[in-house]
Amino acid sequence: MEILVINCGSSSLKFQLIDSESEKVLAKGLCERIGMEESSISYTPSGGEKMVKTTAMPTHHEAISAVIDFLTDKSVGVISDMSEVDAVGHRVVHGGEYFSQSVQVTDAVLKKIEACNELAPLHNPANLIGIDACMKIMPETPNVVVFDTAFHQTMPESAYLYAIPYKYYEKYQIRRYGFHGTSHSFVSKRTAEILGRDYNSLKTIVCHLGNGASISAVECGRSVDTSMGLTPLSGVIMGTRSGDIDPSILGVIAEKEQISTQEVIQILNKQSGMAGLSELSSDFRDINRAIQEGNQKAKSAFDAYIRSVVRFVGAYAAVMNGVDAIVFTAGVGENNPNIRKAVCDHLTFLGIQIGDGANDVCGQEKIISTPDSAVKVLVVPTNEELAIARETVEVLNS
Ligand code: ADP
Repeated sequence: MEILVINCGSSSLKFQLIDSESEKVLAKGLCERIGMEESSISYTPSGGEKMVKTTAMPTHHEAISAVIDFLTDKSVGVISDMSEVDAVGHRVVHGGEYFSQSVQVTDAVLKKIEACNELAPLHNPANLIGIDACMKIMPETPNVVVFDTAFHQTMPESAYLYAIPYKYYEKYQIRRYGFHGTSHSFVSKRTAEILGRDYNSLKTIVCHLGNGASISAVECGRSVDTSMGLTPLSGVIMGTRSGDIDPSILGVIAEKEQISTQEVIQILNKQSGMAGLSELSSDFRDINRAIQEGNQKAKSAFDAYIRSVVRFVGAYAAVMNGVDAIVFTAGVGENNPNIRKAVCDHLTFLGIQIGDGANDVCGQEKIISTPDSAVKVLVVPTNEELAIARETVEVLNS
């Protein structure tokens, strides 16, 4: 089957056309500045050069049309007609408590996604616009939605309830949801395959460390705890997000700076994390360089980051009463050996041993622990698009 995977943001649209049998990416690209001036689409066919075209995209409808034009183009296209696309798989950020798995789009499904808009006001409305555009432009093609939150719906109440008045959970569904679920699911399954172990009996801690970062405890194929919460702001320190802080800080900053709570939350999302602490950059490549040049703030930010990751890994080993494997994934987890080493140096009490030179790996699947390490440590590159394509096929076949 040929699956078009769509990841819609408010002004962007990422796409990949994936052949589900060979799992090969036939083409991929990105529409940027949708609804703004100078909008453009970049497109890379498999084995070909990346090309960029400036084209007016006042809405996501024009963006989808531009994607179709490229995919079916006589010289650079990879299919002759859109009828060759068997289904579209959409990433949707928030499925609330409605969705614990991927589903085919129906009117009822759309209503439920809309009901979750309040929980993810920046993301869900954009995801819905993308689905609407595909339904209008390709009315015969089925659409499947894959949720960032769905994998974590298996968490027990003890993991998802916040200790605030219970009525807020009942009235407003305020609870921990967790995100990056597609990645946590994909990476934990792949870990079991690599280790030759039964997924349904393994205890894995997945460290998805990218610009956004979350850590999850996956026990017997089910997410039992995760670091992000009602929104993707909580948990470990991230590129520009604070991660967990004392909630009173919100009121203190709002009062001292004479700004609204919403403005403080914006600061916690966009100007905090590594960028806020280092006063330099959200990108670990810059942080590493600065540390080598003796920049003390960069070093302090690095140490705080490691501490925040270690806290979750330690906690989740306790939550599961043991751990078989710890996995690093996403931009930082896959490409930054310093971070992996610094985290693992704190975990020797678990019997973890990293192999000599084994950790010098970037963006590649590898077991980096020694054969007799009590807990296996791995690098497993995530592939959210492939995971969405697989889910889409599964839903259609079910
Ligand atoms: P997002 O959450 O936006 O999907 P990514 O998973 O792409 O983020 O991670 C982006 C981060 O990965 C960058 O900010 C950078 O710190 C880190 N990163 C990417 N490539 C490298 C590399 N080669 N070496 C070190 N860090 C890297």
